[in-house]
Amino acid sequence: MMLDRRAFGLGSAALLSGCATAGGRPRTFADCTPLPRVLADESRVIRTVAGLRPYRRTGFVVRREALGDKALVHNYGHGGGGITLSWGSAKLATDLGLPGHSGPVAVIGSGVMGLSTARLVQDAGFPVTIYTAALPPDTTSNIAGGQFHPYAVFDDDQVTPEFRTQFTRALDYSWRRFQIMVGNDYGVRWLPTYVERDTPEGRLLATYPPVNRMLVPAEHPFPWDGTLRYDTMYVETGRYLRQMLRDIQIAGGKVEVRKFAAPADLAALPEGLVINCTGLGSRDLFNDQDLHPARGQLAILEPQPEVQYALTGGPGYMFPRPDGIILGGTFELDQWDTTPDPQAIARIVANHKRFFASLRCGA
Ligand SMILES: Cc1cc2nc3c(=O)[nH]c(=O)nc-3n(C[C@H](O)[C@H](O)[C@H](O)COP(=O)(O)OP(=O)(O)OC[C@H]3O[C@@H](n4cnc5c(N)ncnc54)[C@H](O)[C@@H]3O)c2cc1C
Repeated sequence: MMLDRRAFGLGSAALLSGCATAGGRPRTFADCTPLPRVLADESRVIRTVAGLRPYRRTGFVVRREALGDKALVHNYGHGGGGITLSWGSAKLATDLGLPGHSGPVAVIGSGVMGLSTARLVQDAGFPVTIYTAALPPDTTSNIAGGQFHPYAVFDDDQVTPEFRTQFTRALDYSWRRFQIMVGNDYGVRWLPTYVERDTPEGRLLATYPPVNRMLVPAEHPFPWDGTLRYDTMYVETGRYLRQMLRDIQIAGGKVEVRKFAAPADLAALPEGLVINCTGLGSRDLFNDQDLHPARGQLAILEPQPEVQYALTGGPGYMFPRPDGIILGGTFELDQWDTTPDPQAIARIVANHKRFFASLRCGA
C-alpha cells in the first residue's frame, strides 16, 4: 500500500512515530506559531469511503476520432487530479469537438469531467444531453478530497511533450475558472497548505501556487524539519457537483440515466458529437488497458470549523471541509474493491492522532 501524500511529488519522509524528534535529535525550537489541532480519534469518524482514481501512467486522454458518421472526443483518465483539471480538460475536449459542429451534443458521464464538459458545451451555445450510468453522489468525483493540485496524474518518465502541453493548458484554464467560483454557492475556498518537505518546489504555473515558500520553525507548530507553505483552493465536492448539475439543468441540459456496453451503443445516439467522460469506465467501454484503478481510502471526521489549514506529508493528508475533516489516504494501484478496509482506516486515523498530539504548540 502506498501512502497518498498529495505533496508536490511524493514526499520521502517516513511516517511520524509521534515523538517530537527527527533522526533521534531532540527538538529545541524556541518559538512556535500555533494552529488548532485536529481531534483525530476513532470516536469522531462520521463516515469512511474508498474510491478508484482513473490512473494512466501516460496521462489523461483528450483526443478526437471518428465513430461511424459521428465525431467522438475522449476526456478521461485524470488519476488523482480530476477535480483540479476538470475545467481545463473540458476546455481541451470542447475545443477539439465543437468547431464546425452543429446541433445537440452528447456527453457521457456525470462525474466532474462530464459536468464541466456539459457546461462548456452550453456556454458555447449548443444543447446538451448527459447520458450516464450513475449520477452524483454515486460517482468517484464525489469521493475526492477536493484539493486543487494535480497530484498523481501521470508518471513523469512516461509522458510525451505533447501531453505536457495539454496538461499545462488544462491546469492553467482550471486554475482561472475555479477562482471565479470561490464561495459558498459552489463550496470552493482558499486555504494555506503545509507540506512536509526539505526543499522548496518550483511553481507549476506563473501564478500557481501563490505563496510558495519554506517556513522557519518559528512560523509553524509541526514537529518535522522542513515545512513548505503554499496556498490553493479546496472544493467541497458534494456541494460542488450538486450545484454543477443544477446549473446544467437550469440552462436546459437534459440528463438520461443509461449505461453503455460498447462504442456501437454510442454510435446509435442521435447527437452528431459525443464526448466521452466515463472516467475509469473507459477501460471496459473502449478497452483502454492502460487505465488502472488507484484506490484511495478516506476517513471523514466530524467537522471542526476552527481548522482553516490543510496538511500533506507525515501522517498522510488532512483537508478540513464544512462537511467533515478529510483524512487520507492511500494510493493502491489495481485494487478494485470500493469497500473501505477497517484496518487501513484505523491506521489513517491513528497516524493523524499521533501526529496532531505531537504538534510543538497548538490549541
Ligand atoms: C480518495 C480520492 C481522493 C481524491 N482527491 C482528489 C483531490 O483532492 N483533488 C483532485 O483534483 N482529484 C482528486 N481525486 C481524483 C478525482 O476524484 C478523479 O480524477 C475524478 O473524479 C475523475 O472524474 P471523472 O468525471 O473522469 O470520473 P467519475 O467521477 O468516475 O465519473 C464517471 C462518470 O461516467 C459514468 N460512466 C462510467 N462508465 C459508463 C458507461 N459505460 N456508460 C455510461 N456512463 C458511464 C459514471 O456513472 C460517472 O457518472 C481523488 C480521487 C479519490 C478516489
